[in-house]
Amino acid sequence: MDWKIERIRERCATCEQPFRHDERVRSAITTDEQQRAVRRDLCGACPPPGGPSTVWWETRWQQPAQRKKKVDFDRLLRVFEAWQKAPPKDSDALLYLITLLLVRKRFLKLVDLVHEDGREHLRLRRPGPIETWYLAPAPLLQPSDLPPLRLRLEELIDGTIEDDELQGATDAATAVGN
Ligand SMILES: [Zn+2]
Repeated sequence: MDWKIERIRERCATCEQPFRHDERVRSAITTDEQQRAVRRDLCGACPPPGGPSTVWWETRWQQPAQRKKKVDFDRLLRVFEAWQKAPPKDSDALLYLITLLLVRKRFLKLVDLVHEDGREHLRLRRPGPIETWYLAPAPLLQPSDLPPLRLRLEELIDGTIEDDELQGATDAATAVGN
């Protein structure tokens, strides 16, 4: 796994203007030229990236940067739904972790495990006035896959996944027999 971790973002990814304290910054999870998921932080003057798999949000840039940020699970759900329609390349393991975190937080209900096209998928249901059904990949992960995957997800969603959240997610995976 060779992705670059860039935790300190001090300038706009497009125009390279340094961010000022309390400036409105748009962050987006989008795809790069290789169609891989990346995060881009942009100043208010630069347009947010488009595309069907893009999810963006706005924050005020803080100096010094906050060390720990809570995971925004609504944002995570938006990423999940965007990636249902247009998954970035090589995103199966990431999407799987996102799915398990959302199951643990009860944003999604795990229904069962199904085989489709020779691969395992989780069948999920989103409770609510209009029930929505989803299918998400369930690749076989080794325990050693988790730390880099967690870092990659924290980088993308701009939040810190707590140990108990991660543990709960992996328990959900065990419960489904994967
Ligand atoms: Zn800019």
